[in-house]
Amino acid sequence: MNKGEKLASLAAQIEICQKCDLYRGTTHAVPGEGNPEAQVVFIGEAPGFHEDSQGRPFVGNAGKHLDFLLSKVGLRRGDVFITNVVKHRPPENRDPAPAEVAACSSWLEGQLSTISPKVVVTLGRWSLARYLPRGKISEVHGQPFISQGLIVLPMYHPAAALRSVALTKQLEDDFLKNRRLLTNPSEQGAVETFDESGQGSLF
Ligand code: URA
Repeated sequence: MNKGEKLASLAAQIEICQKCDLYRGTTHAVPGEGNPEAQVVFIGEAPGFHEDSQGRPFVGNAGKHLDFLLSKVGLRRGDVFITNVVKHRPPENRDPAPAEVAACSSWLEGQLSTISPKVVVTLGRWSLARYLPRGKISEVHGQPFISQGLIVLPMYHPAAALRSVALTKQLEDDFLKNRRLLTNPSEQGAVETFDESGQGSLF
């Protein structure tokens, strides 16, 4: 199976997943979508109302803002892969429970090991916690670090940016500051502040 076929097989399994109770009351699972050969994977929190209705990630207001941010660095959705920590919408958009995150984690692991990206962009604190459990987004946003053999770039969640003008500006600045890393991660010098010894820690 090639990467696209493997991702499609994972998506088919996610669509019928009952590893936790989140699937109850949802319309669609939201496995994620994008380029199977992507070098950059964006990980959000969980599907919201619009994502649940359509079965696609980041298609509501936060998603429109993500599209805008991608366009700022010359990327389109089809260049990257976009997914979430949790693949079914939590009721009333509540935070996913730790047990739900744990139950869902093998799907994300399967997607990441299939795609094998160079960079993971964490959108918000739930996906950041996967790589930096005690990390504070307000302290680490926009600063890439190494974890689990990947370059992890923590970003504020686009929905947070919709609630604050200051965060809107910060998020855009963080995208622009990391343009080379996002568009050409293999290029030498793409990560200017890269620290090979910084396994899992910030430099
Ligand atoms: N917020 C997320 O974290 N993920 C989505 O897919 C949509 C909104």
